[in-house]
Amino acid sequence: MGDHLKHPSELPSATRYVLMQDTFLSGWGEAEGKDCMYIFACDTYADAEIVKANAEAREDQTRISIQPSTFFSDFPNDDFPENWHAMLGTQENSARWYEPGAFSTERCPDCEGEGCEECDDTGRVEKKGARA
Ligand SMILES: [Zn+2]
Repeated sequence: MGDHLKHPSELPSATRYVLMQDTFLSGWGEAEGKDCMYIFACDTYADAEIVKANAEAREDQTRISIQPSTFFSDFPNDDFPENWHAMLGTQENSARWYEPGAFSTERCPDCEGEGCEECDDTGRVEKKGARA
């Protein structure tokens, strides 16, 4: 998931960016010695809140925040911090992150986790939104 960003100028314009650190992918592989930072571009504040709620529902994301469109233009040296391995998330490359409740582990209230039509037999609140 995501495309590596070498420089903030590669970011698509957006109303909001949702920032987070992937604790699982930080420090090794492509992000050896660095913090693997995801930057999700969002067209609306509502999208940003969905992405943030999805990040919070996962155990591998930390330092989650919603930032204004001007956030990166204020960076010193007009560049990412040196310890960042920045990755871009968009509706195109990470569609699931923009779906309300996509990573929720909350039990389906209709079947209490047993699985039913409402939850596609997953037993979880998924793609239903409104629970973020
Ligand atoms: Zn159900």
